[in-house]
Amino acid sequence: MPHEARAVVALKKGAPVEVLPILVPDPGPGEVLVAVQACGVCHTDLHYRDGAIGDEFPYLLGHEAAGVVEAVGPGVTEPAPGDYVVLAWRAPCGQCRSCRRARPWYCFNSRNATRSMTLLDGTELTAALGIGAFAEKTLVAAEQAVKVDPSARPEAAGLIGCGVMAGYGAAVHTGGVGSGDTVAVIGCGGVGNAAIAGASRAGARRVIAIDLDDGKLDAAERFGATDTVNSRGTDPVEAVRALTGGHGVDVVIDAVGRPETYRQAFYMRDLAGTLVQVGVPAPDMRIELPLIDLFSRGGALKSSWYGDCLPSRDFPVLIDLFLSGKLDLERFISETIVLDDIEPAFAKMQRGEVLRSVVVL
Ligand SMILES: [Zn+2]
Ligand SMILES: [Zn+2]
Repeated sequence: MPHEARAVVALKKGAPVEVLPILVPDPGPGEVLVAVQACGVCHTDLHYRDGAIGDEFPYLLGHEAAGVVEAVGPGVTEPAPGDYVVLAWRAPCGQCRSCRRARPWYCFNSRNATRSMTLLDGTELTAALGIGAFAEKTLVAAEQAVKVDPSARPEAAGLIGCGVMAGYGAAVHTGGVGSGDTVAVIGCGGVGNAAIAGASRAGARRVIAIDLDDGKLDAAERFGATDTVNSRGTDPVEAVRALTGGHGVDVVIDAVGRPETYRQAFYMRDLAGTLVQVGVPAPDMRIELPLIDLFSRGGALKSSWYGDCLPSRDFPVLIDLFLSGKLDLERFISETIVLDDIEPAFAKMQRGEVLRSVVVL
Protein backbone atom coordinates (compact mmCIF):
# COMPACT_ATOMS: atom_id res chain seq x y z
CA MET A 1 0.00 0.00 0.00
CA PRO A 2 1.50 3.36 -1.01
CA HIS A 3 1.67 6.01 1.67
CA GLU A 4 0.14 9.42 1.07
CA ALA A 5 2.33 12.32 2.19
CA ARG A 6 2.41 16.10 1.82
CA ALA A 7 5.39 17.22 -0.21
CA VAL A 8 6.96 20.19 -1.99
CA VAL A 9 6.87 19.74 -5.75
CA ALA A 10 8.28 21.88 -8.58
CA LEU A 11 5.78 21.21 -11.37
CA LYS A 12 7.37 23.28 -14.11
CA LYS A 13 10.47 25.32 -14.81
CA GLY A 14 10.67 28.59 -12.90
CA ALA A 15 7.15 28.31 -11.43
CA PRO A 16 6.67 28.67 -7.65
CA VAL A 17 6.78 25.32 -5.86
CA GLU A 18 3.57 23.81 -4.51
CA VAL A 19 2.71 21.67 -1.52
CA LEU A 20 0.86 18.65 -2.90
CA PRO A 21 -0.13 15.17 -1.76
CA ILE A 22 2.14 12.47 -3.17
CA LEU A 23 2.23 8.68 -3.04
CA VAL A 24 5.29 7.00 -1.58
CA PRO A 25 5.51 3.27 -2.35
CA ASP A 26 6.40 0.61 0.17
CA PRO A 27 10.12 -0.09 0.07
CA GLY A 28 11.30 -2.62 -2.50
CA PRO A 29 14.45 -4.72 -2.25
CA GLY A 30 17.31 -2.64 -0.90
CA GLU A 31 15.08 0.33 -0.12
CA VAL A 32 13.88 2.06 3.05
CA LEU A 33 10.91 4.28 3.83
CA VAL A 34 11.87 7.26 6.01
CA ALA A 35 9.60 9.52 8.04
CA VAL A 36 11.33 12.87 7.51
CA GLN A 37 11.65 15.05 10.64
CA ALA A 38 13.62 18.03 9.31
CA CYS A 39 15.07 19.16 5.98
CA GLY A 40 17.26 22.18 5.21
CA VAL A 41 16.64 24.49 2.23
CA CYS A 42 19.65 24.41 -0.11
CA HIS A 43 20.54 26.39 -3.25
CA THR A 44 20.34 23.16 -5.22
CA ASP A 45 16.59 22.97 -4.58
CA LEU A 46 16.22 26.40 -6.13
CA HIS A 47 18.39 25.32 -9.09
CA TYR A 48 16.05 22.37 -9.62
CA ARG A 49 12.99 24.64 -9.55
CA ASP A 50 14.62 26.95 -12.09
CA GLY A 51 15.50 24.12 -14.47
CA ALA A 52 19.26 24.65 -14.02
CA ILE A 53 19.90 21.00 -13.17
CA GLY A 54 17.64 19.18 -15.58
CA ASP A 55 14.31 19.09 -17.31
CA GLU A 56 12.81 16.03 -15.63
CA PHE A 57 9.88 17.89 -14.06
CA PRO A 58 8.00 17.45 -11.81
CA TYR A 59 10.69 17.43 -9.14
CA LEU A 60 10.20 16.43 -5.53
CA LEU A 61 12.53 18.85 -3.75
CA GLY A 62 14.54 18.63 -0.51
CA HIS A 63 17.72 16.65 0.15
CA GLU A 64 19.29 17.78 3.45
CA ALA A 65 17.35 15.74 5.94
CA ALA A 66 17.14 13.65 9.07
CA GLY A 67 14.38 11.28 10.05
CA VAL A 68 13.41 7.88 11.33
CA VAL A 69 13.27 4.66 9.30
CA GLU A 70 9.66 3.51 9.17
CA ALA A 71 9.95 0.36 7.06
CA VAL A 72 12.62 -1.55 5.18
CA GLY A 73 12.39 -3.60 1.99
CA PRO A 74 13.44 -7.21 1.40
CA GLY A 75 17.10 -7.90 2.05
CA VAL A 76 17.79 -4.76 4.07
CA THR A 77 19.74 -5.48 7.26
CA GLU A 78 20.82 -1.93 8.00
CA PRO A 79 19.29 0.46 8.88
CA ALA A 80 16.37 -1.09 10.76
CA PRO A 81 12.89 0.30 11.47
CA GLY A 82 13.15 2.88 14.25
CA ASP A 83 16.74 3.86 13.44
CA TYR A 84 17.52 7.57 13.35
CA VAL A 85 19.22 8.49 10.08
CA VAL A 86 20.66 11.35 8.05
CA LEU A 87 20.00 11.01 4.31
CA ALA A 88 22.94 11.07 1.90
CA TRP A 89 22.89 11.77 -1.80
CA ARG A 90 25.97 9.61 -2.24
CA ALA A 91 25.80 5.88 -1.58
CA PRO A 92 28.77 4.33 -3.43
CA CYS A 93 27.93 1.35 -5.66
CA GLY A 94 31.26 -0.44 -5.17
CA GLN A 95 31.35 -1.44 -8.83
CA CYS A 96 31.71 1.63 -11.07
CA ARG A 97 34.98 2.81 -12.61
CA SER A 98 35.71 5.10 -9.69
CA CYS A 99 34.76 2.65 -6.95
CA ARG A 100 37.02 0.08 -8.63
CA ARG A 101 39.84 2.63 -8.54
CA ALA A 102 39.32 2.88 -4.75
CA ARG A 103 37.82 6.37 -5.00
CA PRO A 104 34.26 5.69 -3.85
CA TRP A 105 33.73 9.37 -2.96
CA TYR A 106 33.52 10.07 -6.71
CA CYS A 107 31.16 7.09 -7.33
CA PHE A 108 29.64 7.54 -10.78
CA ASN A 109 26.64 5.28 -10.12
CA SER A 110 25.50 6.14 -6.63
CA ARG A 111 22.58 4.09 -5.33
CA ASN A 112 19.02 5.43 -5.20
CA ALA A 113 15.58 3.91 -4.72
CA THR A 114 14.32 2.39 -7.96
CA ARG A 115 10.61 2.64 -7.16
CA SER A 116 9.17 6.05 -8.01
CA MET A 117 7.20 8.37 -5.84
CA THR A 118 4.25 9.86 -7.74
CA LEU A 119 1.55 12.49 -7.72
CA LEU A 120 -1.92 11.15 -6.93
CA ASP A 121 -2.65 10.79 -10.69
CA GLY A 122 0.37 8.52 -11.07
CA THR A 123 2.76 11.09 -12.59
CA GLU A 124 6.27 10.02 -11.60
CA LEU A 125 8.31 12.49 -9.57
CA THR A 126 12.04 13.01 -9.94
CA ALA A 127 13.50 13.14 -6.43
CA ALA A 128 16.06 15.95 -6.01
CA LEU A 129 19.53 14.40 -5.73
CA GLY A 130 17.83 11.02 -5.40
CA ILE A 131 16.26 11.98 -2.06
CA GLY A 132 13.16 14.23 -2.15
CA ALA A 133 12.82 15.08 1.53
CA PHE A 134 10.54 18.12 1.63
CA ALA A 135 7.96 15.43 2.31
CA GLU A 136 6.46 13.74 5.31
CA LYS A 137 7.83 10.45 3.98
CA THR A 138 10.39 9.56 1.35
CA LEU A 139 11.87 6.45 -0.23
CA VAL A 140 15.64 5.99 -0.58
CA ALA A 141 18.20 3.24 -1.08
CA ALA A 142 19.13 1.67 2.26
CA GLU A 143 22.74 2.87 1.88
CA GLN A 144 21.51 6.47 1.59
CA ALA A 145 20.10 6.34 5.12
CA VAL A 146 23.07 6.69 7.45
CA LYS A 147 22.45 5.81 11.08
CA VAL A 148 23.64 8.48 13.54
CA ASP A 149 23.38 9.21 17.26
CA PRO A 150 19.72 10.06 17.99
CA SER A 151 20.65 12.62 20.62
CA ALA A 152 21.41 15.13 17.82
CA ARG A 153 18.12 16.89 17.10
CA PRO A 154 16.92 16.54 13.48
CA GLU A 155 17.02 20.27 12.62
CA ALA A 156 20.78 20.22 13.26
CA ALA A 157 21.59 16.66 12.20
CA GLY A 158 19.96 16.98 8.77
CA LEU A 159 22.37 19.78 7.82
CA ILE A 160 25.15 17.21 7.70
CA GLY A 161 23.38 15.70 4.69
CA CYS A 162 24.41 18.41 2.23
CA GLY A 163 25.79 21.89 2.88
CA VAL A 164 27.77 21.30 6.04
CA MET A 165 29.32 18.08 4.71
CA ALA A 166 30.13 19.76 1.39
CA GLY A 167 31.94 22.66 3.05
CA TYR A 168 33.62 20.69 5.80
CA GLY A 169 34.80 18.06 3.30
CA ALA A 170 35.98 20.70 0.81
CA ALA A 171 38.51 21.82 3.42
CA VAL A 172 39.40 18.53 5.05
CA HIS A 173 39.10 15.99 2.21
CA THR A 174 39.47 17.87 -1.09
CA GLY A 175 41.75 20.64 0.17
CA GLY A 176 43.67 18.36 2.49
CA VAL A 177 44.06 21.18 5.03
CA GLY A 178 46.56 20.12 7.66
CA SER A 179 48.17 21.37 10.82
CA GLY A 180 49.76 24.80 10.43
CA ASP A 181 48.29 25.52 6.98
CA THR A 182 47.01 28.90 5.92
CA VAL A 183 43.54 28.89 4.36
CA ALA A 184 41.19 31.39 2.72
CA VAL A 185 37.47 30.82 2.20
CA ILE A 186 35.53 32.97 -0.28
CA GLY A 187 31.81 33.18 0.48
CA CYS A 188 30.62 32.71 4.04
CA GLY A 189 27.17 31.15 3.61
CA GLY A 190 26.38 27.69 4.96
CA VAL A 191 28.98 25.89 2.84
CA GLY A 192 31.72 28.49 3.34
CA ASN A 193 31.26 28.60 7.09
CA ALA A 194 31.36 24.81 7.24
CA ALA A 195 34.65 24.97 5.31
CA ILE A 196 35.95 27.45 7.89
CA ALA A 197 34.91 25.10 10.69
CA GLY A 198 36.59 22.17 8.90
CA ALA A 199 39.83 24.06 8.28
CA SER A 200 39.90 25.22 11.87
CA ARG A 201 39.37 21.69 13.20
CA ALA A 202 42.04 20.34 10.85
CA GLY A 203 44.57 22.61 12.55
CA ALA A 204 44.90 25.52 10.15
CA ARG A 205 47.03 28.28 11.65
CA ARG A 206 45.19 31.01 9.83
CA VAL A 207 41.70 30.92 8.31
CA ILE A 208 40.81 34.04 6.35
CA ALA A 209 37.08 34.58 5.67
CA ILE A 210 36.09 36.68 2.66
CA ASP A 211 32.59 37.97 1.95
CA LEU A 212 30.71 41.10 0.93
CA ASP A 213 28.53 41.09 4.05
CA ASP A 214 29.81 42.11 7.49
CA GLY A 215 27.12 40.05 9.23
CA LYS A 216 28.34 36.90 7.51
CA LEU A 217 31.93 37.77 8.40
CA ASP A 218 30.92 38.06 12.07
CA ALA A 219 29.40 34.58 11.83
CA ALA A 220 32.56 33.31 10.12
CA GLU A 221 34.63 34.39 13.12
CA ARG A 222 32.44 32.30 15.37
CA PHE A 223 33.03 29.27 13.11
CA GLY A 224 36.79 29.70 13.48
CA ALA A 225 37.97 32.39 11.06
CA THR A 226 41.09 34.13 12.40
CA ASP A 227 40.82 37.07 9.97
CA THR A 228 38.05 38.59 7.87
CA VAL A 229 38.12 40.57 4.63
CA ASN A 230 35.12 42.45 3.28
CA SER A 231 35.82 42.38 -0.45
CA ARG A 232 33.31 45.15 -1.17
CA GLY A 233 35.89 47.83 -0.57
CA THR A 234 39.14 45.85 -0.60
CA ASP A 235 40.97 43.76 -3.19
CA PRO A 236 40.77 40.34 -1.50
CA VAL A 237 43.87 39.04 -3.30
CA GLU A 238 45.98 41.89 -1.95
CA ALA A 239 44.41 41.55 1.49
CA VAL A 240 45.18 37.82 1.68
CA ARG A 241 48.75 38.38 0.54
CA ALA A 242 49.16 41.11 3.16
CA LEU A 243 47.97 38.70 5.85
CA THR A 244 50.41 35.98 4.75
CA GLY A 245 53.75 37.72 4.43
CA GLY A 246 53.10 38.55 0.77
CA HIS A 247 52.83 34.89 -0.28
CA GLY A 248 49.18 33.89 -0.32
CA VAL A 249 47.60 30.91 1.41
CA ASP A 250 48.21 27.16 1.10
CA VAL A 251 44.56 26.33 0.39
CA VAL A 252 41.75 28.51 -1.00
CA ILE A 253 38.14 27.37 -0.99
CA ASP A 254 35.81 29.10 -3.43
CA ALA A 255 32.36 28.57 -1.95
CA VAL A 256 30.75 31.01 -4.41
CA GLY A 257 31.56 29.54 -7.82
CA ARG A 258 31.68 32.62 -10.05
CA PRO A 259 34.42 33.56 -12.53
CA GLU A 260 35.50 36.55 -10.44
CA THR A 261 35.79 34.55 -7.22
CA TYR A 262 37.59 31.72 -9.03
CA ARG A 263 40.12 34.21 -10.39
CA GLN A 264 40.61 35.69 -6.93
CA ALA A 265 41.06 32.21 -5.49
CA PHE A 266 43.57 31.34 -8.21
CA TYR A 267 45.77 34.33 -7.41
CA MET A 268 45.45 34.35 -3.61
CA ARG A 269 47.18 30.96 -3.38
CA ASP A 270 50.81 30.64 -2.48
CA LEU A 271 52.98 28.95 -5.12
CA ALA A 272 52.00 25.27 -5.39
CA GLY A 273 48.88 25.97 -3.35
CA THR A 274 45.53 24.25 -3.75
CA LEU A 275 42.31 25.80 -5.06
CA VAL A 276 39.09 24.00 -4.18
CA GLN A 277 35.93 24.97 -6.03
CA VAL A 278 32.85 23.91 -4.08
CA GLY A 279 30.45 26.70 -5.09
CA VAL A 280 28.45 25.55 -8.13
CA PRO A 281 28.71 27.83 -11.20
CA ALA A 282 25.99 28.50 -13.77
CA PRO A 283 26.34 26.73 -17.13
CA ASP A 284 27.07 29.94 -19.06
CA MET A 285 29.98 31.11 -16.91
CA ARG A 286 33.46 31.27 -18.49
CA ILE A 287 36.94 31.91 -17.16
CA GLU A 288 40.08 33.01 -18.95
CA LEU A 289 43.51 32.78 -17.34
CA PRO A 290 47.02 33.13 -18.78
CA LEU A 291 48.24 29.60 -19.45
CA ILE A 292 51.69 30.56 -18.24
CA ASP A 293 50.18 31.38 -14.82
CA LEU A 294 48.58 27.94 -14.61
CA PHE A 295 51.99 26.42 -15.25
CA SER A 296 54.22 28.71 -13.25
CA ARG A 297 52.05 28.96 -10.14
CA GLY A 298 51.75 25.18 -9.97
CA GLY A 299 49.70 23.41 -7.31
CA ALA A 300 46.29 21.89 -7.71
CA LEU A 301 42.96 23.14 -9.06
CA LYS A 302 40.25 20.85 -7.72
CA SER A 303 36.48 20.58 -7.63
CA SER A 304 34.82 19.23 -4.53
CA TRP A 305 31.73 17.11 -5.12
CA TYR A 306 29.85 16.88 -1.83
CA GLY A 307 33.10 17.47 0.04
CA ASP A 308 34.52 14.23 -1.40
CA CYS A 309 32.77 12.58 1.53
CA LEU A 310 31.86 9.01 2.34
CA PRO A 311 28.59 9.49 4.22
CA SER A 312 28.70 6.17 6.07
CA ARG A 313 32.14 7.11 7.42
CA ASP A 314 31.79 10.88 7.80
CA PHE A 315 28.22 11.57 8.98
CA PRO A 316 28.62 9.83 12.35
CA VAL A 317 31.92 11.67 12.85
CA LEU A 318 30.38 15.09 12.26
CA ILE A 319 27.44 14.25 14.52
CA ASP A 320 29.89 13.25 17.26
CA LEU A 321 31.76 16.54 16.80
CA PHE A 322 28.44 18.37 17.13
CA LEU A 323 27.43 16.48 20.27
CA SER A 324 30.80 17.14 21.89
CA GLY A 325 30.53 20.87 21.17
CA LYS A 326 33.25 20.96 18.52
CA LEU A 327 31.04 21.69 15.50
CA ASP A 328 28.32 24.25 16.08
CA LEU A 329 25.54 23.01 13.79
CA GLU A 330 22.97 25.07 15.71
CA ARG A 331 24.60 28.26 14.45
CA PHE A 332 23.77 27.32 10.84
CA ILE A 333 20.03 27.28 11.61
CA SER A 334 18.74 30.77 10.85
CA GLU A 335 15.07 29.81 11.14
CA THR A 336 12.75 26.82 11.28
CA ILE A 337 9.77 26.80 8.90
CA VAL A 338 6.97 24.55 7.62
CA LEU A 339 6.53 22.97 4.17
CA ASP A 340 4.37 25.87 2.98
CA ASP A 341 7.20 28.37 3.59
CA ILE A 342 9.67 27.15 0.95
CA GLU A 343 9.17 30.00 -1.54
CA PRO A 344 9.80 32.75 1.07
CA ALA A 345 12.82 30.73 2.25
CA PHE A 346 14.18 30.66 -1.33
CA ALA A 347 13.83 34.45 -1.46
CA LYS A 348 15.67 34.91 1.83
CA MET A 349 18.42 32.60 0.62
CA GLN A 350 18.78 34.56 -2.61
CA ARG A 351 19.03 37.80 -0.66
CA GLY A 352 21.73 36.24 1.50
CA GLU A 353 19.73 36.74 4.69
CA VAL A 354 20.01 33.20 6.03
CA LEU A 355 22.61 30.49 6.45
CA ARG A 356 19.90 27.83 6.52
CA SER A 357 16.13 27.76 6.73
CA VAL A 358 15.14 24.34 8.04
CA VAL A 359 11.74 22.76 7.41
CA VAL A 360 10.39 20.91 10.43
CA LEU A 361 7.87 18.18 9.67
ZN1 LIG B 1 22.27 20.78 -1.13
ZN1 LIG C 1 30.57 3.48 -7.68
